[in-house]
Amino acid sequence: MSQVEAILQALRRVCGSGTATPGQPIALHEPDFSGTQAWAYVRDCLDSGWVSTAGKWVSGFEQELCARTGAEHAVAVTNGTVALRLALHLVGVSVGDEVLLPPLSFVATANAVAHLGAMPHFVDVEAGHLGMNPAALGARLEAVAERRAGGVFNRSTGRRLAAVLPVHVFGHPARIQELRAVAEDWGLPLVEDAAEALGSWSDDTHCGLFGAVGTLSFNGNKLITTGGGGALLTHSAELAQRARHLSTTAKLPHPWAFEHDAVGWNDRLPNLNAALGVAQLEDLPRRLHSKRQLAARYSQAFDDLESVALLTEPPGCRSNHWLVSLRFLAEDPAEAKAQRLQVLEAAHSESLLLRPVWHLLHQLPMYAQAPRGELAVAEDQACRLLNLPSSPQLLEGWSL
Ligand SMILES: *Cc1c(COP(=O)(O)O)cnc(C)c1O
Repeated sequence: MSQVEAILQALRRVCGSGTATPGQPIALHEPDFSGTQAWAYVRDCLDSGWVSTAGKWVSGFEQELCARTGAEHAVAVTNGTVALRLALHLVGVSVGDEVLLPPLSFVATANAVAHLGAMPHFVDVEAGHLGMNPAALGARLEAVAERRAGGVFNRSTGRRLAAVLPVHVFGHPARIQELRAVAEDWGLPLVEDAAEALGSWSDDTHCGLFGAVGTLSFNGNKLITTGGGGALLTHSAELAQRARHLSTTAKLPHPWAFEHDAVGWNDRLPNLNAALGVAQLEDLPRRLHSKRQLAARYSQAFDDLESVALLTEPPGCRSNHWLVSLRFLAEDPAEAKAQRLQVLEAAHSESLLLRPVWHLLHQLPMYAQAPRGELAVAEDQACRLLNLPSSPQLLEGWSL
């Protein structure tokens, strides 16, 4: 049997047994509200008329996020991109700055920087778990950064380096303690893109809570979804207060007067969406348990294949296993890429909607001119990675 056929058989063994309807495509990660109170909570919004940007489900969602992550404060917003943009603004990122981030991420990580008029500055990742490489960050800063009055500056572009923005890719925690140590050495604020990492922990700390502020996404294919949504996590009362203020048009509290003291945004999550979030957060432990079981199923099914390996949980960490990822191991990246394409084509022809990892951000046209260190690892890994269907619904018994 060819390797492609063997990989497909392993996939079918995992994806074919759950609640999937024969003939229906199996997507990467699908929303699911079975076993939750979602209907009742949404009905409460409609019955009460509280559907918009305030209400008990918004505050309930924020409290529940704090309870599940250990954050002192959570601020719910309309999506993960907005959460990132707000978080970066809160730590002082502004027009003309540079923000250090990895090229292996969803485009939103770089876009949030660009939305503030700042520029991504790309730093390589490590192959094992795909997070920003602390050594590469340190080396890049040594190579280009200079402390001056007013901050740390990029000697070659003259722009200020305003923050470090690592990503916890596919729910696997990056080497965040080491990244934080480098950022602290340089006095740079740390913002974590934990969009994919709800329920992921490094040591005893939830992803997103290592630096000043971290962000989550509740977009349609994330571990839990509010339709669209995001949140900021922080231990800082001051940052949380500013986040709330700036995301509600910077309106000063008053029973009738419309007074605003800054250029704010209209970013708050509607009650209707938050109701969906509360319903799924109440179910989070079961969901995380199922994701872990699914990852174990995949690992069994792929165990005896030699040309591929699954990404694993980093040591000392608890991953939410958001997207199970397969790595093609062929020495030559071109060969790995060709094998990946064969598997993609064969799988899509039988409605298994696998996806290759994102196109690297520094190769997208709008970031082609952005400053960068050496990105050899990201470029190598980008040829090799394939995400596998990872919905908890793929487990039999899920929606009983
Ligand atoms: C999903 C995601 C985002 C953005 O979230 P949206 O809610 O879609 O705006 C940001 N970063 C990463 C790494 C993501 O996966």
